[in-house]
Amino acid sequence: MGEPMPSAQRTVDAGGRVLTPGLVNTHHHMYQNLTRAYAPAINGTLFQWLTTLYPKWSVLDDESVYLSTYVACAELLSGGCTTSSDHMYVHPRPNLIDAQISAVSDVGFRFMANRGSMTRSVEDGGLPPKEVVQDEDTILADSERLIGAYHDPNPGAMTRVALAPCSMFSVSESIMRSTAELAEKHDVRLHTHLAEDTDEDAYALEVYGRRPVEYFEDCGWATPRTWVAHYVYGSDEENRRLAAAGVGATQCPSSNMIICGDAADAKSLRGMGMDVGIGCDGSASADSADLWMETRTALLLARHRHGPDAFTAREALNMATEGSAANLGWSDEIGHLRPGACADLVIWESSWLSQTGVLTDPVEGWLRSGPARAHWVFVQGKERLSQGELLLERLNDVVTAHRAAAAHMQGVS
Ligand SMILES: [Zn+2]
Repeated sequence: MGEPMPSAQRTVDAGGRVLTPGLVNTHHHMYQNLTRAYAPAINGTLFQWLTTLYPKWSVLDDESVYLSTYVACAELLSGGCTTSSDHMYVHPRPNLIDAQISAVSDVGFRFMANRGSMTRSVEDGGLPPKEVVQDEDTILADSERLIGAYHDPNPGAMTRVALAPCSMFSVSESIMRSTAELAEKHDVRLHTHLAEDTDEDAYALEVYGRRPVEYFEDCGWATPRTWVAHYVYGSDEENRRLAAAGVGATQCPSSNMIICGDAADAKSLRGMGMDVGIGCDGSASADSADLWMETRTALLLARHRHGPDAFTAREALNMATEGSAANLGWSDEIGHLRPGACADLVIWESSWLSQTGVLTDPVEGWLRSGPARAHWVFVQGKERLSQGELLLERLNDVVTAHRAAAAHMQGVS
């Protein structure tokens, strides 16, 4: 027998709809919704896509970061997501993560800010222009400042901070090492992109004389405080080593299929004991931030790779909830419905036509027969979306201002 159920402060009639824990998004670049489906970049390789967009992103400022974060959180809530991390690695101006946290607080959304960084511009053999990179001292000092200001390690925290150099082709080896040491010192999570594209293998061998995973391990990153985005191209032996070290991975289904041509083998990685979560990735690669859709696509990818008896809707839901919460080191409080968890809940609505005939398995019906949208969303017990409507007073004004900021960034009227 378990503990007695606590008494309810409020009771909601879900009307027979499916209820799940709030979905958890473990990889995103929210500012990129200012350059969604940007025509000059959409058919390039990952490296071409990045080098086309970096100059556009160099105009980011407090206001555009606030607006893009607010829109991203609203979009995520609509798709049933109640907690997101965000990998903010472009810093043409200081204090942009402060603007993000301001927006997230205004929305009432649970958030893990990833203090991203880039140190190697084109002049140093990297990909980004010098306007968006920073020196190592600046990065480390700002990382400590953000941890001190915003990282709340206590139960029920609404904001935490992780440290997140962008990727091996845009940061130095020394910042990888010193960031890992700083994360250890402050007991915060570590995040980066890893093994996203085959171009990365060639780059790592040429520049570092090692494969990407070997380089990652040599920098002191193979620890249980680390989760990596994408992780598509690790070898079987590398997969086993990282799983044994306690490193988690985020599958980004849409982004990987659009821009990389393959995706992490979530079923095999989970079978090795690795925590695998789901991320929507940045809004200029996936061009969408809908965790229900990413969860459904994770289901399709696993069955496409391993066969029709290989993966269920419940396993995909587990990736988007418990797997993602484990990525963020937040498993004790989010991603499940047990007593003691944060009250992050989603009641789902599917169109009545798409659910017609679903009689034998409501969870399979929820994920297969959509699209499903959030009908009711609670974050920390507070209603953020009610009967399909976002409860965000500023949303219309923010969307209008976002349109103008996006036009400025893209150079269109
Ligand atoms: Zn990314």
